[in-house]
Amino acid sequence: MTGTSRPDESRAPQKTAASGSGGFPPPAGDPEKASAFTGPGRRLTVLSGPSGVGKSTVVAELRRAHPEVWLSVSVTTRKPRPGETHGVEYFFADNEEFDGLIASGGLLEWAEFAGNRYGTPRTPVLDKLAAGVPTLLEIDLQGARQVRATMPEALLVFLAPPSWEELEKRLRGRGTEPEDVIARRLAAGRIEMAAEQEFDLTLVNTSVQDVCHRLIALMADAPEASRPGRSPS
Ligand code: 5GP
Repeated sequence: MTGTSRPDESRAPQKTAASGSGGFPPPAGDPEKASAFTGPGRRLTVLSGPSGVGKSTVVAELRRAHPEVWLSVSVTTRKPRPGETHGVEYFFADNEEFDGLIASGGLLEWAEFAGNRYGTPRTPVLDKLAAGVPTLLEIDLQGARQVRATMPEALLVFLAPPSWEELEKRLRGRGTEPEDVIARRLAAGRIEMAAEQEFDLTLVNTSVQDVCHRLIALMADAPEASRPGRSPS
């Protein structure tokens, strides 16, 4: 997977609420339309994609613009990066604590990624879904596969980089990981890119705002509506 670049639209879903409902975001100042979630909405959405693609940036923007969407906070054995706060980006745990969560069935899914473990706390997700709150998981491919198996009604969205070169650039440009960790993340990224077809649709991260709008539109789409299709790439 090298040297391919592609226009944003080439991977856009054929059917999204953004393209099908006459415009998103809704006009400001109209309380009736202030939230995208006026209908039943799609309850559980999984956002996945290779490390460095910009999932966290997209999610941060989505939370800013749409606080009605609840983002699951994962548990990880990774050490906090500068600026990360326990309970905000992650719950930071040691190996023993993580083992305990697995043993007690406290995780909806979990995976080992580039030498650390990551998992989604089960109870908060089930509580939010039961309360009808639109819920977003930002997890890796292995986790997405587990969610697909246990909660097939979830919408699985793959966030792709505009090109492999761009992904490498973003991962290195972050400056938060040493070279060996970057190499592991890129190796995992190749596997993730090869699994793109397993997802319901792909959004190419050429613009954070655009990806956010599309994601929200998809989440606002009724769950019983047919799954979005894909344009040929
Ligand atoms: P990072 O260390 O860069 O924050 O995350 C590394 C990878 O772990 C990313 O691909 C991220 O989406 C994924 N990840 C974060 N939380 C979870 C989780 O709860 N479960 C799984 N399976 N992956 C996660």
